[in-house]
Order: sequence, then C-alpha cells, then structure tokens
Amino acid sequence: MSPKAPITQDVLTLPRKLPEGKINLVGLTRDQLRAVLIEHGTPEKQAKMRTGQIWQWIYQWGVRDFAEMTNLAKAYRAQLAENFVIEIPEVVTRQVSEDGTRKYLCRIAGGHEVEVVYIPEEDRGTLCISSQVGCTLTCSFCHTGTQKLVRNLTAAEIVGQIMMARDDLDEWPTPGAPKDETRLLSNIVLMGMGEPLYNFENVRDAMKIAMDPEGISLSRRRITLSTSGVVPEIARTAEEIGCLLAISFHATTDETRDVLVPINKRWNIEELLQALASYPNASNSERITFEYVMLDGVNDSDEDAHRLIDHIKRYNIPAKINLIPFNEWPGAPYKRSSNNRIRAFANIIYHAGYASPIRKTRGEDIMAACGQLKSATERARKSRKQIEAETGLSR
Ligand code: SAH
Ligand code: SF4
Repeated sequence: MSPKAPITQDVLTLPRKLPEGKINLVGLTRDQLRAVLIEHGTPEKQAKMRTGQIWQWIYQWGVRDFAEMTNLAKAYRAQLAENFVIEIPEVVTRQVSEDGTRKYLCRIAGGHEVEVVYIPEEDRGTLCISSQVGCTLTCSFCHTGTQKLVRNLTAAEIVGQIMMARDDLDEWPTPGAPKDETRLLSNIVLMGMGEPLYNFENVRDAMKIAMDPEGISLSRRRITLSTSGVVPEIARTAEEIGCLLAISFHATTDETRDVLVPINKRWNIEELLQALASYPNASNSERITFEYVMLDGVNDSDEDAHRLIDHIKRYNIPAKINLIPFNEWPGAPYKRSSNNRIRAFANIIYHAGYASPIRKTRGEDIMAACGQLKSATERARKSRKQIEAETGLSR
C-alpha cells in the first residue's frame, strides 16, 4: 500500500430515499417488467411493446425520468411516474488513483455501502462489481472476508453499478448519434465484494440485463465471474449466464487450500477440478482463468507451480493462470512474494504451455486493488424480514 493520498476524492450527493410504495423498474427481467406494467394498468395487448420501449429507454439510453420517454403518450408517462421509479445505487465518494483507476463507494437501500472499481487500460475498460455486502466466506488473505455478510445485493443493485459507472464515464449514447464501438466500459468482472455464486439468481438476472442486445449490450465473453469454488453452481453458471469463469484457486494442496480458501473443506480440489473440466464453455478460446494469489512462503514454491500444472493437465482443462501479487491490507497475516519469486513461478507455468500473466496491481493508493475492498458497514447479518423491508423484494 502506498501512503500517498488519492489525487481526487469527491463527496457527491447524499442518498435520496426511495419514494414510498413505488416499484423500481431497474433489475427486473423482461417478463417481470411486463408483469408489473400490466399490474399497474398497462393493457395486456400493449404490454409487450411498452416493455420493449421502456427497456430501451432505461438500458440503451440511460434515461431515469419517465418524462423523457418521448415515444410514449404524455398521460401514460405520468401514469408510469406515479407507480414506478428508475433507481440505481447512489455514489457517495469517488476516488481517482494516480493510474486512472476509479473507486466508487456506493450507497444502497438500508444505508449499506459497496465498492465498485473502474480500471482503464489501453484497449479496454473493466468494471469490477460487487455481488454482496461483505461475504459469508472467510478466505484468510482477503479483506472482504473479514467483513460479515450483511446481505445479498438485488439484481437492481448489481446492474445499477454498471449504470452508475456509465453515468460517471458519460457513456450513454445519444439517439441518432453514430454508434461508438470503442467503449470506455467494455468489460465486467464479478470480482468485487462477495461470492457471486451465493447470490446466483440476482447475479444471473443482472448479467442477463447487461448482455441484452437492446440495452447495455455487453457480450457474454466480456463478462467474467470469479468464484471461490461453489461447485454445485458452476454448471448452472455456464447454462444460465454463459459468461467466462475465473476460479480463486490459490493453493495446490488441500491442506493449504483449506486455510486460504476455507470453502475447500466443503468442496476440495479434486471436486473443484471435476466441475471445471465439465464447464461446457471451456474451450481454447474461452479458457478458465485460474487466479493464484502469491503469498510469500505459503503457496509460491516451485513445487507448487509444478503441482498446479499437474492438476490442470490431469483434467485437461483449457486454462490460463493469472498470478496476483498479494495486496496487503491493515492487519493482513501474509506478505507478498518477491518479484523474483513471482517471475520464477510464472516461468514454470509458461514453459508448461500455459499463459501466466502477472496481474498488474491497480489503484493500490486508494485501496482499490483486489482483495482490498471492504465497506465500513460492519453490521451483523440481517434477518430475511429486514432485507425484504429494505429492498422491497421478497427473495
Ligand atoms: N468471491 C469471489 C470474487 C471476489 S474476490 C472469489 O473469491 O473469487 C476477487 C479475486 O481477488 C479473487 O481471486 C480473490 O481471491 C482475490 N483476492 C482477494 N483478496 C486478495 C488480496 N488481498 N490480494 C490479492 N488478491 C486478492
Ligand atoms: Fe469472499 Fe472471495 Fe474474499 Fe473469499 S476471496 S472472502 S469468497 S470475497
């Protein structure tokens, strides 16, 4: 961690309260949207068309005010405004790192906070989004893991993070303007706070919305979901989301992985490898990313590198190995492996025929790097009832 202060830190508007009794249209699937429109007076015969129109306004043009939906009759727009809102998470602070990385602290219903990180690169821009406030898992090297799970994010709060970033990057197209193919926000990684496969339905619905061609329209190949290894949900990820998969592997023996990634006690390395080997999308062009955090003296030996390759080869998994220099956080019980050690480890993997990029650490000066995210909300897990009251949703 560098002690340098961030270049900018804006404190933006305070959160608006969700107007009582109104339904947020963000995060609903097309079917759900159609159903709430009918429930609130849209004639059934028109519902499909209205759903398409409203969908485009929200997700293609980034409109938040029904009054701007100019292809709808004035009276109908007023009726919509009476019953619905288009709400996304509120940005509380925005920090911009020396390297251009942006970290947003967003407030969601109930006063909770999640962090979202935007990482600009030469040929792409990646948004790292969160799926939960806190995490139920307790990976010993992860800052988020020291925070209890507060609650799952709703689909609205997940896709809302993408919409929030597009607002900040000023990247909504204007009707009639030529299509800009080089997007500032071109890729999504579900690598922020939380375990996405423990919030499967909301993550799936949000990603489906992000992929919808009449909206944000991100290709499934530009979305990567990272999991610590929730084995029973891996096949479903391919079937129901279809995005790329990254796996927090981090250790080559069960003994070490049990400590680093404790979910390994539930589903061990063999079970995980079996699930990965049958990930139906895995092919040479859509390889599975093995994330491997480099911890000094813990998992970074030459033997580890060889064992890692053996595991992948034994199951014939099309893979690339992403080496992540450990990002330290206050009180962390580990140290980052030396650059020489990381390079030596990478070389062994490379010579075995696998890509072994070393992840560049981004946004460290603002604690935006992998595993450094942790919001200040340190509340205990909420009851189902409290969550329903907060989000207005019953799942
Ligand atoms: N819960 C999911 C996704 C979020 S973590 C998962 O575990 O995969 C995103 C990535 O950052 C994971 O590979 C995680 O292991 C890694 N990570 C966590 N803490 C880290 C740290 N302090 N330094 C480097 N990488 C870290
Ligand atoms: Fe949770 Fe992932 Fe951190 Fe593990 S690494 S505690 S699964 S966020």
